[in-house]
Amino acid sequence: MPRIIVENLTRTYGRANKAVDNVSFIVEDGELFTLVGPSGCGKTTTLSCIAGLDNPTEGTISIGEREVFNSRTNTHVPCEERNVGMVFQTYALWPHMTVRQNLEVALKLRKVSAADRKRKIDDALDMVDLSKLGARYPHELSGGQQQRVALARALVYSPSVLLLDEPLSNLDAKLRLQARSWLKSVQRELGITTIYVTHDQDEALALSDTVAVMSGGHMLQKAPPETVYKKPASQDVAAFIGRMNFLPARVVEPGAGGKSLTTVQLVGTDDRFQIDAANDHGLSVGDEVTMAFRPEDVALVHSDATAGADMPNHIEGTIKASTFAGACYEYHLDVGGYEVEAFDRAQGLSGRCKITFGPQSVLLYPGISIATGKIDASASDAPAGVPA
Ligand code: ATP
Repeated sequence: MPRIIVENLTRTYGRANKAVDNVSFIVEDGELFTLVGPSGCGKTTTLSCIAGLDNPTEGTISIGEREVFNSRTNTHVPCEERNVGMVFQTYALWPHMTVRQNLEVALKLRKVSAADRKRKIDDALDMVDLSKLGARYPHELSGGQQQRVALARALVYSPSVLLLDEPLSNLDAKLRLQARSWLKSVQRELGITTIYVTHDQDEALALSDTVAVMSGGHMLQKAPPETVYKKPASQDVAAFIGRMNFLPARVVEPGAGGKSLTTVQLVGTDDRFQIDAANDHGLSVGDEVTMAFRPEDVALVHSDATAGADMPNHIEGTIKASTFAGACYEYHLDVGGYEVEAFDRAQGLSGRCKITFGPQSVLLYPGISIATGKIDASASDAPAGVPA
């Protein structure tokens, strides 16, 4: 299956509205590459440019050996000649056609013989486990079945690459999980190079070989899901992927000169923390930093005279609220005047407690983030908004 190479892709609407701004990436043969990011960050525009449904302002796009777009040479291969399979959020099935007829349209357009059409439709329906429903109309199918018809239709003419734009977002939560693993196994089985667009970070992490995080038309990070989650390249990525606590701090002793730990002090308090120096990125004494750590990496210990004294990075806090979240309880704490979230399986914790976290579980980013959750002292006891 071919690679997709996108270089310096820019799509400007009007004079200055850059929906996609100088984005470059390679999707390797057989890879499932996901574009994820908040609404309006440029995911669909990028996908549409690759499909040939939209005209980039600048850049080049190649699918396999073939350059399908080049702004300098005025190359623009039309959509129908790019041999891409597409699935949209809406599925876009023809309501007046049966499942088989929906699949047949693309084959007739490609002048496939009647015998080959039958075989290809049988194969595609078999692949998505819908062999028995070929005679039904879309309104006679469940949402999940319609989604599978849309995928079968995208695959029936053996496209060289697959482009999926939020294909699962119309499904309910449970079906969505099933469809996710089913989709992943079909993609693996076929080994088809795939670009997947979603705003759902969990879906991106669960499905992808590579996750590319976009914001404001830029690509902020592209890496395997574990790397994006455990080592977000910037505060913006850290804030978008998963839940994260942010605290403002100053460097007291950097981890330079072979030291394994960096010491920082929480702004406005005497509390100091030791952070793995591998996460320090060349900081100096006095530098302002943002500490970032995940709620699942915080341990809660009931506050008494001795508990937690021998643990690294322990600090007093007050539980302000808790929410039952199935697998755990989500606790919202006031820690030195800052909002901190902690996940814990223990029920009914309240009042004063200590939080602790390991030196490896904290990332340091230069500068103090606006996302640090300072609690407004004039507000009520309710948490002042969870850090994004
Ligand atoms: P969503 O997740 O909400 O679908 P997205 O990340 O896919 O968002 P795009 O649809 O790519 O975002 O849009 C990127 C930006 O380009 C947005 O600010 C959008 O308003 C703008 N945009 C998209 N299409 C047009 C258009 N035809 N004319 C003007 N601006 C557009």
